[in-house]
Amino acid sequence: MHEFDIIRKYFAPLMRASTWLDAGIGEDCALLDGNVFKAAQLAISTDTLVAGKHFPHELPADTANDIATRVLGTTFSDLAACAAEPLGFSLALNLPRVDDMWLKNFSIGLASFMEEWSVNLLGGDLSEGDLSITVHVLGRVPKGQALRRDGARHGDILYLSGCTGEAAAALRAIKGDITVSDETREVLLRRYWQPVPRIHLATELRGLATSAIDISDGLLADATHIGEMSNCCLRVNCEQIPLSDSLRDAVGDEAMDLALGGGDDYELLFTAPPNTHKVLEQRAQSCGVSCTPIGIVEKGSGVVCAHEPKTRGWRHFG
Ligand code: ADP
Ligand code: MG
Repeated sequence: MHEFDIIRKYFAPLMRASTWLDAGIGEDCALLDGNVFKAAQLAISTDTLVAGKHFPHELPADTANDIATRVLGTTFSDLAACAAEPLGFSLALNLPRVDDMWLKNFSIGLASFMEEWSVNLLGGDLSEGDLSITVHVLGRVPKGQALRRDGARHGDILYLSGCTGEAAAALRAIKGDITVSDETREVLLRRYWQPVPRIHLATELRGLATSAIDISDGLLADATHIGEMSNCCLRVNCEQIPLSDSLRDAVGDEAMDLALGGGDDYELLFTAPPNTHKVLEQRAQSCGVSCTPIGIVEKGSGVVCAHEPKTRGWRHFG
């Protein structure tokens, strides 16, 4: 099976009809009807997952659907951070060899995510090389309503959606560094392989939140970006950090360390003025996601927290 057979067999069938998509896989460019962005901003973002760096090397072929949901979950999470509505993505794939089973499982993972979020595959690239996957996502957000990192203001409350730390614990379980019960393992692995982009919540936060970021590197590490971009100091109260039962069960005393410094969570960290608290709680509830106040925005700079985790977060070339 060569390049074009693979595209025809596994990727072209995933393309669905979208009113705004005039041409997709098979053409040199995907052609989109510009009307879909009328009165809206086009939101784009790219992420790459490299085997051995972003997920363990040489996983069995039946993990390929997990790799697909992970790469899409993480990349669409960037759209959530901006409160953009997802439209579609392109996919650049480097494969070391043609593995039918791997490709089949991978395309099943893509299809399930595409179905769940009603997004389309617009095109991509395929080449021979060490396993890596690059996804380029496309979304739209009504002009002026995007959430950004630079809007936090002195006096705002800092909120966290869901809870953090479980994905980092999952990675330890995958690597065999910790042993956990089957039940806990299932919860943790789902968090790692099937991150849920907080798209519904983010849409509800339009007009309420003053700033937002999605947590990929670690809660404190990503909080730093809001602080820097907004020229303010974020004071995180570690007593308010939610620690899930699965996380405590898996890593015990290290739960707070992982919740603050772990990474791979894809939760939203955002700020909002105190007078929006009631509305915010109602909206969060309406989309079934918990939002916990975990700190405040002060004058100054940096991220202050009484608990200093062993590492504040992940950094390439760090
Ligand atoms: P070109 O050589 O003109 O860049 P390719 O030969 O790489 O195009 O790809 C042929 C068509 O298949 C293009 O429409 C491209 O978008 C699509 N395609 C290639 N790889 C993928 C992939 N992994 N997933 C989805 N579509 C793909
Ligand atoms: Mg071409």
